[in-house]
Amino acid sequence: MSREDYEVVIGLEVHAELSTRTKIFCSCSTEFGANENTHVCPICTAMPGALPKLNEKVVEYAVKAGLATNCSISQDSKNDRKNYFYPDLPKSYQISQFDKPLCNHGYVEIEDDDGNKKKVRILRIHIEEDAGKLNHDEYSSGSLVDLNRAGVPLIEIVSEPDLRSSGEADRYLKKLKSILQYINVSDCKMEEGSLRADVNVSIHKPGTELGTRHEMKNINSFKAIQRAIEYEIDSQIDDAENGKVIQQETMRWDDLEGRTFPMRSKEDAQDYRYFPDPDLVAIKLSDEYINNIKENLPELPESRKVRYMEEIGLSEKDADALVSSRRFSDIFEEAGKICNDYKSVCNWLTSDISRILNEGEMDPEEIPFKAKELAELVSLINDGTISSKIGKKVLEELFKEPRSPKKIIEEKGWVQISDESEIKEVVMTVLEANPQSIVDFKAGKDRALGFLVGQAMKATKGKANPQMLNKMFLEELKK
Ligand code: ADP
Ligand code: MG
Ligand code: ZN
Repeated sequence: MSREDYEVVIGLEVHAELSTRTKIFCSCSTEFGANENTHVCPICTAMPGALPKLNEKVVEYAVKAGLATNCSISQDSKNDRKNYFYPDLPKSYQISQFDKPLCNHGYVEIEDDDGNKKKVRILRIHIEEDAGKLNHDEYSSGSLVDLNRAGVPLIEIVSEPDLRSSGEADRYLKKLKSILQYINVSDCKMEEGSLRADVNVSIHKPGTELGTRHEMKNINSFKAIQRAIEYEIDSQIDDAENGKVIQQETMRWDDLEGRTFPMRSKEDAQDYRYFPDPDLVAIKLSDEYINNIKENLPELPESRKVRYMEEIGLSEKDADALVSSRRFSDIFEEAGKICNDYKSVCNWLTSDISRILNEGEMDPEEIPFKAKELAELVSLINDGTISSKIGKKVLEELFKEPRSPKKIIEEKGWVQISDESEIKEVVMTVLEANPQSIVDFKAGKDRALGFLVGQAMKATKGKANPQMLNKMFLEELKK
């Protein structure tokens, strides 16, 4: 038996922090990175008698996410208490949603491993509060609790077990991330923990019942999720082959060691003793409320893609690459509009900019320069101020220290020489130094022209206008 005999089954529970200004049940700020315990109040620190009040923006953002992922929105919903003890949870319960989530039964479309379109079903999306954070102190043996994150709003997006490989899981998560960014409900910064996933993996033989799953909690990078899945697949197949029965377990993925460790045997819903939170009223949404959000939903990637192909004439491949990230797509639209050359902007984004991002393992969100600056670069090339070769150097500068490309080329002295008398001077000097090339050219060796142009480029450190050089050399050689 080998890996091919098993089918892999994966389901993701994705947590996204919502980018509301304030927390879900109080008016403390949700800002990331503030000093410990400065964004707290009696409500989010669970003082006795403090009463929560639901932030309406949280409902709005969750409904947006539901609509953008083809869910039906529940008009009758509520908050429930999920009871468990952990030092980062001062109330000893998390306010979440149990049997009446805001959004149900949606899907997102991804490509499967053969490149075919596939719908990944979403079981539900519910709202809940984030817990605080434990900082393990290096200097003493204790742990410090920071409650700034306690009460930051989350949506949990639970998929059906529809994913069949680590690649599909990766594409699903990237698709979700891009949708949430397009509709502006989460910044999805994995490095800040605002997007993280619980990953459920099982294996079984096709045609038999689903296998028992292992759940890996809170993994917060795309790479780690792929590695964790691959590790689990191998280890579960190993166990199955050796006759070991896989137990339902919650695991911890250790990215440094590259393996998972059992954390606890899986708890069931009944262990949490869910019950409706008596401090909060039911959530009732009118048709009008839902329709209003639907009508004002920002344009989604699929629709942008169609527009790029039909109105701008991009290939499907280019359009796909551009809409894969909201930042890319926004830069494309803004820069294209300014310089009125969408095709060149698309080329920069899909070739050189993508290459630099890949090399630096950066996300498009980390592009440091503005659309305006890319537009200026394109215009400088189009009007002959710089060559496209110099353009690439300007782009590298934009990544290092973003500023106006005009300034960059002035500072660096990279302006293309297009002055006729200056070009003529270079041409004459090069001809004088290379009499053999003149003879060669006259004898029908066209390559000699290329050589001369190359010499002139070398002499001007790549700054001479190549078209002008070509023309002038030809004129001189034909004399
Ligand atoms: P919880 O983990 O909170 O108990 P659920 O029982 O709803 O919640 O399941 C959570 C996730 O596990 C879902 O994303 C679902 O798709 C996935 N899942 C369920 N069964 C399997 C399975 N046999 N293999 C892999 N994933 C599964
Ligand atoms: Mg779970
Ligand atoms: Zn508070």
